[in-house]
Amino acid sequence: MSDPDNNTAYASKEEHTEAISPPLQPPAIEVTNLARWFNGIHAVNNISFVIPRGQVVGFVGANGAGKTTTMRILATLDYPNSGEAKVCGINVVEYPAEVRGKIGWMPDHYGTYRNMTVIEYLDFFARALGYKGQERIDRIVEVMEFTDLTPLSDRLIDKLSKGMGQRLCLGRALLHDPEVLILDEPAAGLDPKARVELKHLIRILAEDGKTVFISSHILSELGEMCDSLLFINQGKIIHHGDADSLTKSNSSSCLVEVLLSDPPEKLREWAMLAPGVTFVDSTKTGGRIEIEPAEDEDIAKILRRMITDGLNITDFHQEERKLEDAFIEILGEIEESGTPAAK
Ligand code: ATP
Repeated sequence: MSDPDNNTAYASKEEHTEAISPPLQPPAIEVTNLARWFNGIHAVNNISFVIPRGQVVGFVGANGAGKTTTMRILATLDYPNSGEAKVCGINVVEYPAEVRGKIGWMPDHYGTYRNMTVIEYLDFFARALGYKGQERIDRIVEVMEFTDLTPLSDRLIDKLSKGMGQRLCLGRALLHDPEVLILDEPAAGLDPKARVELKHLIRILAEDGKTVFISSHILSELGEMCDSLLFINQGKIIHHGDADSLTKSNSSSCLVEVLLSDPPEKLREWAMLAPGVTFVDSTKTGGRIEIEPAEDEDIAKILRRMITDGLNITDFHQEERKLEDAFIEILGEIEESGTPAAK
């Protein structure tokens, strides 16, 4: 049975919903033609990039490439000579206080304070941020739990290990629950265990919807945790793309590692007679071969042939190109032609 009144009600509700649908949120970070120079040296040379909300983006470049300068401008600690930077749609030069409310900044070096414990340090910054009473206690407790600093609350800061100190620095950056984290070399100087812990924390923050902009020299680690990578060289952005596409080789051949329960020599002998296969080198339990062409069906055909020819294969996998190789390849293309080749 029709109900005209109800239909009208639905129609007007839909119209109303359309009318109040929220405007698109601006990106977490938006940098446009940004430049910063010191005594004639272009530390950052007219760079532009956009980081959507909720993404983890790695910022990669050699020493002196311009990472810290870019990050310091985003963190409202320095001014650009030209261009514009916005965090959550807010201009960092015009509204620095509002931007500071949105970001958590972790510098590559942080000052230690003598005779101050972990909890006193966090309490000091929580007060500086304006937290009072129970809310201040709650923020400190939450941050200490997240960074696993609760058992160290009474430890003097200058007695913390490098990894503990980095966690404290991250905790400080998280006190006001910022939407965007800007982390400058947070893994520098950490041992492998502390790096895994830090990576785990960053992953949780990303799952929580935070945007993380992180610089590092350790490309393999960035590849694992980042949605995309931004390469900078001599103040210029030379690449912005996802880590997966960088590790896929563009060449017509592919490198495959083969492990077998036979002596490795057997693989070499087989490869010398197989069309489309070149033996590359031996390993303790097998070796590496190059297959050309590198289409999936060709690779599958080679694997089938190995099995029918009687090789006892225990593992067969394509080797990924290392991010370091991709970075160096892009740098090489720039040196040759001035621009990276289209990927
Ligand atoms: P690193 O990985 O070594 O930290 P980076 O990529 O962070 O390097 P920046 O610290 O941004 O590089 O430096 C970029 C360039 O700007 C370098 O040539 C550096 O010497 C120069 N630079 C940075 N800050 C200043 C400053 N305050 N005064 C003069 N030159 C500066």
